[in-house]
Amino acid sequence: MRKKIVAGNWKMNNTLEEGQKLTSEIVNMVNDEVNEDVTVILAAPFTHLTMVKSGISAASKVYLSAQNCSEHASGAYTGEIAAAMLNSVGAEYVILGHSERREYFSETNQQLATKVDIALENRLTPIFCCGESLEIRENGDFVSFVCNQINESLFHLSEKEFSKIVIAYEPIWAIGTGLTASSEQAQEMHAALRSFISDKYGNVIAENTSILYGGSAKPSNAPELFACEDVDGGLIGGASLKSRDFVDIVKSF
Ligand code: PEP
Repeated sequence: MRKKIVAGNWKMNNTLEEGQKLTSEIVNMVNDEVNEDVTVILAAPFTHLTMVKSGISAASKVYLSAQNCSEHASGAYTGEIAAAMLNSVGAEYVILGHSERREYFSETNQQLATKVDIALENRLTPIFCCGESLEIRENGDFVSFVCNQINESLFHLSEKEFSKIVIAYEPIWAIGTGLTASSEQAQEMHAALRSFISDKYGNVIAENTSILYGGSAKPSNAPELFACEDVDGGLIGGASLKSRDFVDIVKSF
């Protein structure tokens, strides 16, 4: 059975002290309130990873993620962070291909394919983001656009490698805008992605791949989204910065 996952993407928010407070509030609430078998992931800024790792040590359901890694193994890349470094500070996951990285840092599907490889080589589970712009949604080509992102960045992987991937479908028009995809829109894309994966890797791998929804998810809309057959949880931006909202989303299955 595929994992239910709620991942909080803090983006470039929180000082170390604020991050520490948020981590400890989330850990306490998850320990006290979450009975369901849910994997909770905190994707913190690089500077906070060691602190969050120690903050989550008492929480069996909570895991650590970075928000990006370099496509290079090591060397003269000033300001970059290698996958091996993330592994060495205890990160288990890494978000790759977030639309903000694609838009502001010009990340391409080909570059992301290399990042996926290096993450896997360093025992990090990629949370691979995909999603279409409003223009593409309105053109009607959104399913083929998102499938192409998956094809170009992930379909070079072996079955064994692909089985480790988590996918996050995040329509760009719904990220940080307050506009959520309807549960029908989310389900339609998630089912299409699962079928696309099944065509390449077979039904068993497709059925076991967790596909998360991201885009203005909050406690009020998470239950309806998570109730969709092919939605296995969420990648949460804004609402992950408030412990109560984030844990309420975790409890929305
Ligand atoms: C995100 O950036 O991954 C995201 C889903 O953001 P928000 O929840 O704020 O729309």
